[in-house]
Amino acid sequence: MPTLFISDLHLQPQRPHITRAFFHLLRTHARHADALYILGDFFDVWIGDDENTPLQIEVAAQLRELVDSGTPVWLMGGNRDFLIGDAYCQRAGIQPLPDPALVTVYGSPVLLMHGDSLCTDDRGYQRYRRLIRSEFIRWLQHYVSLSTRQKIGRLIRGKSAEDNQYKSRQLLDINTDAAQQALLASGASVLIHGHTHRPGCHRLGEGAQPLERIVLGDWDQQGWYLEWSEQGERTLHRFVIDSAP
Ligand code: MN
Repeated sequence: MPTLFISDLHLQPQRPHITRAFFHLLRTHARHADALYILGDFFDVWIGDDENTPLQIEVAAQLRELVDSGTPVWLMGGNRDFLIGDAYCQRAGIQPLPDPALVTVYGSPVLLMHGDSLCTDDRGYQRYRRLIRSEFIRWLQHYVSLSTRQKIGRLIRGKSAEDNQYKSRQLLDINTDAAQQALLASGASVLIHGHTHRPGCHRLGEGAQPLERIVLGDWDQQGWYLEWSEQGERTLHRFVIDSAP
């Protein structure tokens, strides 16, 4: 059975077709997988495990069903949902993954990241990332009311969309030198990440050891998943998502 990787579903109540497509994946391919890895921006926004929206509850229930059927699920936070905590993971029966994470897939060491930490050309974003991911913010989370956090979440999302309109394509992509360095330091020869919404498979560097970077795609009119077979074959699958209710 293969291992599956997905990212950037940006689940939100306004896009129920994405949620339906995800549940379909859980009931089909994921049932016959050795593991499912979710590499960040699974939810479009996350302000704390205490929000408990109907969408979050339903997704947890569906994930638990998959886990109970025998497929373990690993979840890494992205820049939108890095505040997903142990409480939610426990509810869903899934296991949290740090970013970066070095895992072994059928004997091969593989480096997993969301991808935003590799966008080192965008210095403004990296400053923001350090601030927003600091312990201070995690601490603050416990003292700020849910409704205030919901307002802050909306503001941050709006600002990020507005900022990105004026940033160049290059600035918003990952820095390939940073990716290569991260891979070499980890000892893995394959990096899997999302975040950029630019799916594809790339060779990295010119060295004797071939390095590979696989970028997962975001889900919208189409969805993506990477299938890694027991024989080591990697296939990035794309499928159409029907948005009709
Ligand atoms: Mn992202």
